[in-house]
Amino acid sequence: MNGKNNLYHMVKIENAPEGIEGQGFFATSFDKVIGLARANSLWPLPFATSCCGIEFMATMGSNYDLARFGSERMSFSPRQADLLIVAGTISKKLGPVLKQVYDQMAEPKWVLSVGACASSGGIFDTYSVLQGIDNVIPVDVYVPGCPPRPEQIIEGILKIQELARNESLRRRNSDEYKKMLESYNIETV
Ligand code: SF4
Repeated sequence: MNGKNNLYHMVKIENAPEGIEGQGFFATSFDKVIGLARANSLWPLPFATSCCGIEFMATMGSNYDLARFGSERMSFSPRQADLLIVAGTISKKLGPVLKQVYDQMAEPKWVLSVGACASSGGIFDTYSVLQGIDNVIPVDVYVPGCPPRPEQIIEGILKIQELARNESLRRRNSDEYKKMLESYNIETV
């Protein structure tokens, strides 16, 4: 018998406790259920300022149909959104407005930066353009491209879903998370 088989015999399979098994249902952990629900019901707030916004409109259209991922409900109210999608050039003047919108969204929330302009200022290395929205708010996923195609935007949303699905329920209360928000001068509660 090799070492692997020896180890196999050491594994002890316990019977499920009474009451949590049976036909038609199964037990799981609370954070997995919450993660599944959050990931499949993201409500985006599109903060679209220029050409990348048009690509996002195509992503919403019938050809690409973002509704397939549970995100058909656009929100133009930050209070009823949990995914901030920033698509387009953001001027320095607009930076505080973007930050205010982010501030008004309730936790848990995620940020998707769509395209070169939102992510880094893109071709506009000028005095008036913010060189990346991560100068004012934290970003979870960056989508490259000028403009990115709808497939790329969908890939970005799938990555956000992955984050939402696997995020620990304790993350938003952790010291690391609070420190990260403080580094952006964002108040924590
Ligand atoms: S990244 Fe390109 S397509 Fe997108 S907003 Fe900037 S200039 Fe327009």
